[in-house]
Amino acid sequence: MSRPLSDHEKRKQISVRGLAGVENVTDLKNNFNRHLHFTLVKDRNVATKRDYYFALANTVRDHLIGRWIRTQQHYYEKDPKRVYYISLEFYMGRALQNTMVNLALENACDEAMYQVMNTPIGVRGGLSGGKHGRLSCFLDSMATLGLAAYGYGIRYEFGIFNQKIVSGWQVEEADDWLRYGNPWEKARPEYMRPVHFYGRTEHHPDGVKWVDTQVVLALPYDTPVPGYRNNVVNTMRLWSAKAPCEFRLQDFNVGGYVEAVLDKNLAENISRVIMGKELRLKQEYFVVAATLQDIIRRYKTSKFGSMEAVRTDLDGLPNKVAIQLNDTHPALAIPELMRVLVDEEMLTWENAWDICVRTCAYTNHTVLPEALERWPIDLFQQLLPRHLEIIYEINRRHLERVASLYPGDVDRMRRMSLIEEGGQKRVNMAHLCIVGSHAVNGVARIHSDILKATVFKDFYEMDPYKFQNKTNGITPRRWLVMCNPGLAEVIAERIGDDFIRDLDQLKKLIKFVNDDAFIRDVAKVKQENKMKFAVHLEEHYKVKINPNSMFDLQVKRIHEYKRQLLNCLHIITFYNPPRNLCVLLYIQAAPGYHTAKMIIRLITAIGEIVNNDPVVGDRLKVIFLENYRVTLAEKAIPAADLSEQISTAGTEASGTGNMKFMLNGALTIGTMDGANVEMAEEAGEDNLFIFGMRVDDVEAMDRKGYNALEYYNRIPELKQAIDQIAGGFFSPKQPDLFKDIVSLLMYHDRFKVFADYGDYIKCQEKVSALYKNAKEWTKKVIYNIAGCGKFSSDRTIAQYAREIWGMEPSLEKFPAPDEKR
Ligand SMILES: *Cc1c(COP(=O)(O)O)cnc(C)c1O
Repeated sequence: MSRPLSDHEKRKQISVRGLAGVENVTDLKNNFNRHLHFTLVKDRNVATKRDYYFALANTVRDHLIGRWIRTQQHYYEKDPKRVYYISLEFYMGRALQNTMVNLALENACDEAMYQVMNTPIGVRGGLSGGKHGRLSCFLDSMATLGLAAYGYGIRYEFGIFNQKIVSGWQVEEADDWLRYGNPWEKARPEYMRPVHFYGRTEHHPDGVKWVDTQVVLALPYDTPVPGYRNNVVNTMRLWSAKAPCEFRLQDFNVGGYVEAVLDKNLAENISRVIMGKELRLKQEYFVVAATLQDIIRRYKTSKFGSMEAVRTDLDGLPNKVAIQLNDTHPALAIPELMRVLVDEEMLTWENAWDICVRTCAYTNHTVLPEALERWPIDLFQQLLPRHLEIIYEINRRHLERVASLYPGDVDRMRRMSLIEEGGQKRVNMAHLCIVGSHAVNGVARIHSDILKATVFKDFYEMDPYKFQNKTNGITPRRWLVMCNPGLAEVIAERIGDDFIRDLDQLKKLIKFVNDDAFIRDVAKVKQENKMKFAVHLEEHYKVKINPNSMFDLQVKRIHEYKRQLLNCLHIITFYNPPRNLCVLLYIQAAPGYHTAKMIIRLITAIGEIVNNDPVVGDRLKVIFLENYRVTLAEKAIPAADLSEQISTAGTEASGTGNMKFMLNGALTIGTMDGANVEMAEEAGEDNLFIFGMRVDDVEAMDRKGYNALEYYNRIPELKQAIDQIAGGFFSPKQPDLFKDIVSLLMYHDRFKVFADYGDYIKCQEKVSALYKNAKEWTKKVIYNIAGCGKFSSDRTIAQYAREIWGMEPSLEKFPAPDEKR
């Protein structure tokens, strides 16, 4: 056998990472040194790893600037329809590697860093900081498909918390991610916008005025979003809140507000943290109000045809602007757009409403009732009095229509109202979104069907044409090329590298299902990823795992419906007696969510017993990976053999973790829920491990009543596992530590863990048996990879574009800018 290649040599071989031309490398080296010197003001003696990271980030960022400006100029000149994706969940993150991949600079940077520092870009791993929401996939795809798209959100000063495990418990720390600055963002104080809160309304013959408000300023920060090798660079704009005292109000022609009560601290809190009730509603309005001002300004000032003029005719708005509401969080865009059109632009209500509905579309992400937003009227009345009036008027007209279509159906009117009566009156934000949008979509076929059949049934009956499905997807750039270059290369060797922007081409791998060399290559990459991950685990968690055991991962946030507890019971069952397996659970609880914290405590407690049991040895290990973030997910997912997607049927809208694992060569054990259903369809149901109740079964059980005790008394392994948890087997010092969890499972488990336990364990036994046959296992892996085409976010976004936004995606390249500086 030949000497194994070093990581550096391996990278050099890999064609999907771009070529490292000599000129390119020299240029990168010079610019890196220049940034270290002039931007960071450091020399080699005192530079830290962070300085090197920042110098490299600035070097790579320079390659974006020309393209960014050119793209925006192009949009200004051609005036295409623009789409605005508004979300309260954009997080900036890992821009460096993403930019290197999309600009084909990865190898050149590796080589440059190797020559400068004599290390293959060692600065990258530890200092990548930041987090990415799932929406980065959509932004990546929108840029790759050449769509004039903008992501709009809030620039949270403290993002998601950092999680630590201390004596088995989750402890949260504020994540001060901006402490060292962010080389990717550019503040744009010249585009600062005022946002109003509180005050009262005055009704005059010539219209309504919202007066005596308090003003907060929205300061935009722009981050470039490069497409994949097409020279497109779009913008993500995040708003930061500023108190107006540091600011010249006359610049904004907002006379009359100078006397407004200014509380600097209160104002700036809006973008400080993600929390609190009133604060949350403020954030929701803040992002929407600032964004709509931007949208309308851009609409009015865009050059159209050869004329450079100000557009005044707002009737054309829906032809030039699409607004996508990501969940109900930006729902206030609807009453805010109405307020702007009616109160400020003086359009008639009918005219304004027509524009609003044709412009807005709404994506629903969950059917769980606790996640559907309902804001108390009192809070609205105080914070947004004019918007409440507008919502009442929208509702009055909406209910008039319901009454005319369903005369005498009072109960239907009550169900469909935007205002929920009974106890505290509340605004139902999902109903507001449906009524104010021309399209409503779920995020997987089964989820969209459930919306139509249950929570939004009345609305579907009234306006069936509004309801659509857009099955989620993930970007193959981040979730294959970036995180698993070895697999990307093995695939590219067989079918070329066009699959990176056209994931359907993975179908071509079907012809290699019986090709021994390909099977061997795929298995080898997996084994290498597992070994690398095992080294990482040993370094960071001091647990030695056997890389030949099956890596069984459940990587997702903790939530009862995702049923981490079902996995716990599986672990305990496979411990009584010990069988070969290695379970890694990689999850995060929301702070303040007691049950989630108890679930984490249970997992760590099981780990303490299992991992230290000499009889078990290295056959079974249970590791809870702390501080869930994309950077760790990117290491873990390529190393997974088995992906746990075990939510109660009907509860997971789509899932995207399931797709990441599938694309990275893990097999799925899952229920017929969310996108799992379509994954089984694409890969062949035989190539997944499907178990448990279907949606129909769950509904039937709901009608007849779920009785956990029945299963407990009937299944001895289940009884043993529960008795161990209840009896303190896993918490000897505190035997009743898990009594709440036990009582949850036995008496008020909405997610019916025990009902699926038996079938789940049987299915896990099938998994273990197949895992012993490496060749048959890898064949199934290949079927799964070959079936991944549908789950590219490029497909998702192309469907949004054509079927909701009225835009046409294009793979055409923009001209490259002149790079010489
Ligand atoms: C993919 C991903 C998710 C979604 O995982 P699910 O299994 O679909 O719940 C959540 N958070 C991060 C950081 C992710 O990368």
